Amino acid sequence: MNLHAPDSFKTATETAEPSHPLTASDTAVPIAVAYGDGIGPEIMAASLKVLEAAGARLDPQIIEIGEQVYTRGVTAGIEKDAWQALRSTGVFYKAPITTPQGGGYKSLNVTVRKSLGLYANVRPCAALAPYVATKHPRMDVVIVRENEEDLYAGVEHRQTDEVYQCLKLVSRPGTERIIRYAFEYARANGRKKVSCFSKDNIMKLTDGLFHKVFDEIKVEYPEIETDHWIIDIGTARLAAKPETFDVIVTGNLYGDIISDVAAEISGSVGLGASANIGPSCAMFEAIHGSAPDIAGEDIANPSGLLLAGVQMLVHVGQPDIATAVHNAWAKTIEEGVHTADIFQPDSGAHKVGTNSFADAVIARLGEEPSSLPVARYQATPRLAAGPVPDRSRTHEKVLVGTDLFVHWRGTNPDELAVALKQVKDAGLPQLDMISNRGVKVWPNGLPETMVTDHWRCRFLFDGAADAKAIPALMLALSGAGIEVVKTENLYTFDGERGYSLGQGQ
Ligand code: NAD
Repeated sequence: MNLHAPDSFKTATETAEPSHPLTASDTAVPIAVAYGDGIGPEIMAASLKVLEAAGARLDPQIIEIGEQVYTRGVTAGIEKDAWQALRSTGVFYKAPITTPQGGGYKSLNVTVRKSLGLYANVRPCAALAPYVATKHPRMDVVIVRENEEDLYAGVEHRQTDEVYQCLKLVSRPGTERIIRYAFEYARANGRKKVSCFSKDNIMKLTDGLFHKVFDEIKVEYPEIETDHWIIDIGTARLAAKPETFDVIVTGNLYGDIISDVAAEISGSVGLGASANIGPSCAMFEAIHGSAPDIAGEDIANPSGLLLAGVQMLVHVGQPDIATAVHNAWAKTIEEGVHTADIFQPDSGAHKVGTNSFADAVIARLGEEPSSLPVARYQATPRLAAGPVPDRSRTHEKVLVGTDLFVHWRGTNPDELAVALKQVKDAGLPQLDMISNRGVKVWPNGLPETMVTDHWRCRFLFDGAADAKAIPALMLALSGAGIEVVKTENLYTFDGERGYSLGQGQ
């Protein structure tokens, strides 16, 4: 493995006389550590120093990721030997990295999350009032975001001159495991309520599944209060009264947005940590970036990465050490020992650098905060591989028609309908409806509806369906000069429609 860390940031494991539990020992947990770019090396060194002093039993294996790897032409920002370390340790403590602009570089975070199956993104957002300014001093929310599915499946196509699409994919097994994770997290951490955020009033199948699975699973956790919010009003309420929420579970895109909203309004976006958890691997990091503007100045706040380290200690079964580190850190904040980003000259606080902040936390190990909440971490149950999809539970799946999406440059849907209806061989499904960007435009469309060159033409079988009739229909349309750019078959499952109606239908 390529061990890479600036000499000045080497941990006890790499220096000549290792003497502490951070060194390898029979009981130390191997973890992969990346020092990252920008302020990464400074805040990682400070964080590891605190974890070491607290007695964390960790065996760090240093890996190289980020800018230098990208600029060697590795577009993923991570080399094969580093993957091996991530997979063999199963725990990744990661400092922020700099993603070079342009050049086809891929987001390392998205690659790591998806490749290693890190399906749960857990981001605690708690106010630190009055020590860090916020309008919401009682806020203490944990966002549990689904990390792999939804629009982040990254399945995108350009289909016509005018129209591009991104597929939103939501699976039942993926939904079951993130919702179960949220409830297990709540139970293990003494949280009282889990709120589900979705947009199932509009996306009745995908978000509808998310809400439905939430309702199915919540009954297994009778001691936990639950509610459901449509994402828009839920986000508004979160921004206005975050203290009314406890744990929030939501889909990938919504979770991405609301976790930044929540971190921002907690007043401590620079102090935020996040965990990405999977059945066999997990990654822990600060939510901020590599801050190249202040790199190398010993002024960065290491709190985000340190708190990610606290999450990591809970994950590897050392909740007692996690508790000690969190409480010493909270005491340090409470006593006004602050880095420049949160320092306010009139508050009586002491301004310190990255390294001195770490020393101040170490000096308070064993102490507890007197006004900030005292942490009491419990071991979070490690989920096994998640629910194994029950494919023995078969559904009666019946083909009833097809949606053919065509690239047609006309503007009058009645003319398109005439062209489509010319193809009327026996056994082919019949034209039922045409929609444009989801809105029904034939039959009986409205002249006010704006149309593009991308038309969804719905054909339904009249009687028994024959799957072979669908390619026959596409061939016939192609012969008539109509270009089919995409097809979606229409099914019912146990008699229930597995597709949405056109808006206005
Ligand atoms: P940033 O979070 O690095 O910086 C935003 C601002 O916050 C800067 O003024 C910075 O000085 C300040 N800041 C950030 N962390 C701080 C800390 N710990 N202490 C004190 N001040 C801090 O965001 P950016 O400038 O948009 O991005 C810089 C680079 O980081 C980019 O290359 C971006 O791609 C990358 N990035 C990486 C990650 C990651 O690795 N997880 C996340 C976000 C951004």
